[in-house]
Parts: sequence; C-alpha cells; structure tokens
Amino acid sequence: MSTPISIMWFRQDLRLRDNPALREACNNGDVIPVYIYDNCNAESFTPGAASKWWLHHSLHSLNKSLDGKLHIASGNPIDVLQKIIQQTGATQVVWNRCYEPWQIHRDKAVKQQLQEDGVQVNSFNGSLLWEPWTIMNQSGSPYKVFTPFYRKGCLKAPSPRSVEAAPKQANFIYQNKLDQGIDSLELLPEISWYKQMQQQWQPGEEGAGVSLSEFLNEPINDYKQARDVPSLNGTSHLSPHLHFGEISPNQIWYATLHKFNGSMEDPHMDCFLSEIGWREFSYYLLYHFPTLPSENYNAKFNQYQWRGRNNDLQAWQQGQTGVPIVDAGMRELWQTGYMHNRVRMIVGSYLVKNLRTHWHHGESWFWDCLLDADLAANSASWQWIAGSGADASPFFRIFNPVTQGEKFDSEGEYVRHYCPELKHLPNKYIHKPWDAPKEVLATAGIRLGDEYPHPLVDLKESRQQALDAYEAVKNA
Ligand code: FAD
Repeated sequence: MSTPISIMWFRQDLRLRDNPALREACNNGDVIPVYIYDNCNAESFTPGAASKWWLHHSLHSLNKSLDGKLHIASGNPIDVLQKIIQQTGATQVVWNRCYEPWQIHRDKAVKQQLQEDGVQVNSFNGSLLWEPWTIMNQSGSPYKVFTPFYRKGCLKAPSPRSVEAAPKQANFIYQNKLDQGIDSLELLPEISWYKQMQQQWQPGEEGAGVSLSEFLNEPINDYKQARDVPSLNGTSHLSPHLHFGEISPNQIWYATLHKFNGSMEDPHMDCFLSEIGWREFSYYLLYHFPTLPSENYNAKFNQYQWRGRNNDLQAWQQGQTGVPIVDAGMRELWQTGYMHNRVRMIVGSYLVKNLRTHWHHGESWFWDCLLDADLAANSASWQWIAGSGADASPFFRIFNPVTQGEKFDSEGEYVRHYCPELKHLPNKYIHKPWDAPKEVLATAGIRLGDEYPHPLVDLKESRQQALDAYEAVKNA
C-alpha cells in the first residue's frame, strides 16, 4: 500500500516548531508543504509594502528549513489545492486556523469543497493561546473590556496548549512543476527603501528565536518601566515574528514562565504576558466584531465631524508636522518598518484628535508601512486611540505630545535620532521648538519653517476643537 500524502498549507504559521498542523501531517505519512499567496480573497487586506518585504524573507527562511521543498503558488487557494491533490493523490489537507473575517469565510468554503471532493481536512490552533469562542463572560456573551477578559476569562480558563517540538520524522516531498518559486510573487519593491530594515531585522523562525532569547536574557527584567521609553531597547520586537507565525504565542508564554520558574508574581513578567494578552484581545474583538477594521465599534462616532485636510495627512505621513515626537515616530516607521508602542499612541492621538483626521487614514498608512501590520492589532489599536473602540481610551484623554515627549524621552535622545536637524536644541526646547527664543534657535542652526516646520496646528486650540466636536456626538 502506498504511503498517504498530506498537504500542509502554511499561512500565518511559517515555522516548524510548535506547529500542530504540521505535526498532524507528518504523523500521517508523506507531506507536501505549500504556501499560497492569496490574491483573490483578501481584497483590501492584501499585505502592505513592508509586510511583503518580510513575507519574502520569511518564506525563504521556511524554504531553507524544509530543504528547499516548499511549494509556492499564487491565486485562489481552492484551485491551487485541487490541482495539487489531482497531481499527487494527496488525501488530506491540514492548516492552522486564521482569524481575519475574510480568512474565516474563505477557509469554510475551502473545507466544504475539499470534503465534497472526498479529501480529509483538519484544522488546528497554532496562533492563539485561547481561541475566541472559548472565552465568554458569565452571561455567555463576549467580553468587551480587556481586564476582565484577560484576568477573569483567559487566566481562569484551562492553560494554553503546551509547546511541541519540530516533527522528528518528516518526509517532505517536492514536485518542481507545482512550485512557482518565491520570486514569482514579486514581493520586493523596486525601490530598495528596505535597506535599513535589512540591517535591523531577521525574518524567519531562527530570527524569532533570537529575538525571544535576547529579550528574556535582559530587557524583560525592567520591562514594566523600559517599555515606555522609545530610546531604549526595552521591548521584545516579536510583533512581526508573531504576525507571520514564525513563533507561537505558546512558545513565548511558556519560555517566559520558565524564566521566572513558573511563578506569575514578577511584575515585569506579568506586564509582558498581559501585552501578549492584548494581542489575544485584539483577535477576540476582531472575531466577535468582524467589522472592526472598517466601522466604528461605537456607532456614535459615525456622526463625528472630521476635519481631514489632505495636507495634514501628508505632513503626518512624512514626519513634517512640526511636533518633534510625532515626526520622530513617523520617520522611525518609514525608515525601519517599526514604531515604538508609546509613540504609536502619541502619533495616533495627534492624527485623530489634534488633526481631526479619520482613524481609517492612520490605519491604512500603518498597514502599508508596518512590518508587523496585523489586521486585529492594528484595527483594535486605532479604534482604541480614536476612542471609538471597545474598552477604548476615553475620548477626552488627548495625549499632549509635548508632555509625553518630556516624560518618555526626557533627554530628547529619540527625537534627536530621527530628527537630526533638531539635535543641537537644548533639552528644554527639544519637544517644543516653537517656544525657543530666536537666539536659541539660531545657535542650534534652526529656522522654523525652513530646516524644521512650524507646527501644523496649535496643540491647545486643536485639542479644544476635538473636544467640542466630541461634545456634539457624545449623547447621540
Ligand atoms: P512588546 O512590548 O514586546 O509586546 C509583546 C507582544 O505583545 C507584541 O509583539 C505584540 O504581539 C503584543 N502586543 C503588545 N502591545 C499590544 C497592543 N497594544 N495590542 C495588541 N498586541 C500587543 N501591533 C501589531 O502587532 N500590529 C499592528 O498592526 C499594530 N498596530 C498598532 C497601531 C496603533 C495605533 C497602536 C497604538 C498599536 C499598534 N500595535 C500593533 C500594538 C503595539 O504597538 C505593538 O504590538 C508593539 O509595539 C510591538 O512591539 P514589541 O513586539 O516590541 O512589543
């Protein structure tokens, strides 16, 4: 009797370790590993430019781990899978579940069609600690607030699945005619704006492991404080690795617990794991409220009067708003494909509240520029910052970028790094150059409106205008 063949359909799980679908495929006989670039069903959710760069390298890394046996295809997954089944006689297709609404819709249809074709389909949880339908409040409805979701729901639920090693006995089979090759996907942009990213990031399973062990070695010991300081290397930088599934949240969860001998007491560890919990919460919200990326969760914001001037949006995107910490953040994003979380909140609040520009614009710019662009985290975070989301930051909490800068970048190191034209300004004015006396500006070699822009809006006035606009919809 011939050995049964399974197709392992890789998606956002580009790793060999702790991969439940891959384990199932390997236990069942021979395995055809496949990645399908779905340019049919994703519509506006196809990866942005930075994500494509990451994906290109991540696929190369996975292919290397599979001894060059990864099959690459593009198109509609059902067509690709049916073709492979026809040509190889595969009897089973396995995958780890994805949770974006369009993926859920597609996967249901793929599963139904394959089953009708007589092919066995098995799906697994390889991306979340707790799947969204397993955590409900006492009345059986989804949680809408993070703390009870995480502390009462997740932490009181059965522990996350334990971590599995990479399959020991795997027989991967390869057919040249079924492989289009990674380069055929044309994921790399023509202009090589990604040079700096290349120096800072190592996409792939190995790079994910390095990021985790470096983080657990040192930065976690001061995470609770250092995570808010953008000039420090105080966070894990695991977000793109997690998005592409080069590491599972389970691996991070258990490695962190192991570091602290299984105790949940340490405040830095608790804080870090709760950020992983925020990731879970974002997926949870997206699953239960699938319009999260496009519609205000809180419908009263549908009436909000946006100002939305094109010039404001462009200046924000280019890091030319005249507010140093905002500009530094937007330039960090452009140059590195990443932005520090504290600064994401500051630039988000400034766009939505001071510039009164719809959060959709911020969401889509981030989608294109972030290496960790993730539909769940991005849409939940933008709605959080806009005040329109579930458990959102209250609308009146408008971040003042000057005081935020003075608190979290007190020596101006971060601003000086990304806005070098301001580097000679004394600390007193580094976050508010418009307040600096003429002689101070002259000594620092700056003419406002020339080397560095005047502020687009007055922070106090624009804050008041945002609050007035909110007052008009508050009781809607
Ligand atoms: P760490 O501090 O080391 O945290 C560990 C992990 O926890 C992260 O890798 C991430 O997976 C998760 N996490 C941390 N904070 C959050 C959060 N607030 N929400 C959800 N998950 C979180 N994160 C994305 O992964 N993709 C996005 O597209 C994204 N867009 C954002 C947009 C805005 C406006 C804001 C304010 C935040 C956004 N975030 C997004 C959340 C957060 O900024 C990043 O996850 C974090 O900065 C990544 O850096 P890190 O891996 O070093 O984080």
